[in-house]
Amino acid sequence: MDSEHDQGRPGVPRRAFLRIAGVSAAGAVVAACGPETPSAPVASTAPAVTSSAPPATRLPTGPPNWDELRSQLTGDLIRPGVDAYATAKRGFNQLFDGNNPVAVATAQTVQDVQACLKAAAGRVTIAARSGGHSYAGYSVPEGGLVVDVAGLNKVDVQGSKAVIGAGAKLKDVYAGLARAGRALPAGSCPTVGIAGLTLGGGIGVLARKYGLTCDHLSSAQVVTADGRTLTASADSEPDLFWALRGGGGGNFGIVTEFTFDTDPAPDLTVFSLHFPAGSAANVLGAWQQWIAAMPPELWANLVLSGGAPVQCRVGGCYVGGAAGLNTLLNNLTTNAAARPTQRVVKSLDYLGAMKYFEGSSNRQSFLASSRIITAPVDAAKLVAVTDGRAGTDLLVDGLGGAVAAPAKDATAFWHRDALASIQVYAPATAKTRGKVAQSIGEVVAGLADAGAAGGYVNYIDPALPDWKTAYYGDNAKRLEDVSKKYDPQNVFRFGQGVVS
Ligand SMILES: Cc1cc2nc3c(=O)[nH]c(=O)nc-3n(C[C@H](O)[C@H](O)[C@H](O)COP(=O)(O)OP(=O)(O)OC[C@H]3O[C@@H](n4cnc5c(N)ncnc54)[C@H](O)[C@@H]3O)c2cc1C
Repeated sequence: MDSEHDQGRPGVPRRAFLRIAGVSAAGAVVAACGPETPSAPVASTAPAVTSSAPPATRLPTGPPNWDELRSQLTGDLIRPGVDAYATAKRGFNQLFDGNNPVAVATAQTVQDVQACLKAAAGRVTIAARSGGHSYAGYSVPEGGLVVDVAGLNKVDVQGSKAVIGAGAKLKDVYAGLARAGRALPAGSCPTVGIAGLTLGGGIGVLARKYGLTCDHLSSAQVVTADGRTLTASADSEPDLFWALRGGGGGNFGIVTEFTFDTDPAPDLTVFSLHFPAGSAANVLGAWQQWIAAMPPELWANLVLSGGAPVQCRVGGCYVGGAAGLNTLLNNLTTNAAARPTQRVVKSLDYLGAMKYFEGSSNRQSFLASSRIITAPVDAAKLVAVTDGRAGTDLLVDGLGGAVAAPAKDATAFWHRDALASIQVYAPATAKTRGKVAQSIGEVVAGLADAGAAGGYVNYIDPALPDWKTAYYGDNAKRLEDVSKKYDPQNVFRFGQGVVS
């Protein structure tokens, strides 16, 4: 059956939810709040980071000269007290609307970024902002300077290479690539920034076939804390290049431009299956075995929507036609012994498929977290953990395939052996925040009890107790060394910064 009608989670408009989920019936997001825990030391066998940085100089003190900086910028410098401030400081997650930066600089050139660092490094906290979708509001630091790179948004495709400004949004990236007949595996939300997404890895509906977004990075232009502009690639600043591929946004420097290797844009078939109440454990059990055995052309996720009973749906994307996909989907429904109440299968071109998954661009107010599984876990336990928690979703995104090709220490992205990431997402307001945070904490503990460990840095969660090992595993020590090399005075410090 070919239908576009899809059911959203009760209480959450489907498009809004899918946007948060990041992937239609697919991926999702997470951010949670709470006390930040100091990072534990992490052992490593990683290669030593070579030192080529200039010796650290003493940073200036005292407040920045904002008028001087404003006069140097091509873009604006917006400070509290003007009407534009409330809008200029906004990120995607409304829960952090109370963050009040001391200034928001809109950088339109590399020189603008350099001027910001020169004026403010050491004097105030500095955070780059690309799409502003940090789950934890880390791109809008309280009392700090936001360096908004949204104006650096070119998408220039030449042959198989795409040069993309650090402020480009995914919708513009996809449109630019599609015009040139090229593709880049990336996330789903149209307004997520290419910078945050790439620096943390970049999981999307083409990941099993083509890998993570960061796996396609061939070089990046980075302004470091001392104002130098470096090119990071396999041949130039290789430690930095390693760290930029999964080490997380906000660390090491401000990226102004990425160069990616792209692939010819494929035709795709998207799908969505809704399963009847009561079948969630069977479907999840079968899904875990199924996704592990699937060809990389197939990407899928499974969403458990908490409540009584827990609801379950599976969605995804296939690099190929409907006939081949239907055979694979029948395999899942047979093994799950569950007949979907709704089955959507739809062939689209590359851009059409990216739009199918994109959802709405409305801002959301939420808390979230994540865990990673490397092998099938007890499905009944996962379902039990969401039982009765109306509004809470678990978004289980299949990994493996091309994601598993590089070694775990080949780039900073640690979870090469993952079967899936599991995102925990729940809407939250200032009023419900405490209660929701507690519930998410319980779910995360329940996931750990079921055998899920690790976490995805792009679903950054200030309340995740073991966050550094969870995000980075044995790569954490090398990341700390790279951070100390390129930002010796920790100008880019933040709550879950690699050196925090
Ligand atoms: C609705 C929604 C859907 C999502 N879907 C997906 C998905 O499908 N797949 C996926 O993998 N993730 C997804 N995510 C998570 C997303 O990848 C992360 O939130 C990511 O960090 C957002 O990047 P950004 O540039 O939009 O955010 P920002 O808030 O601008 O930045 C995030 C972090 O990166 C830093 N940063 C920003 N720009 C730069 C720069 N130029 N140089 C250095 N550091 C920088 C910031 O300081 C901050 O710490 C989704 C998130 C949301 C809210």
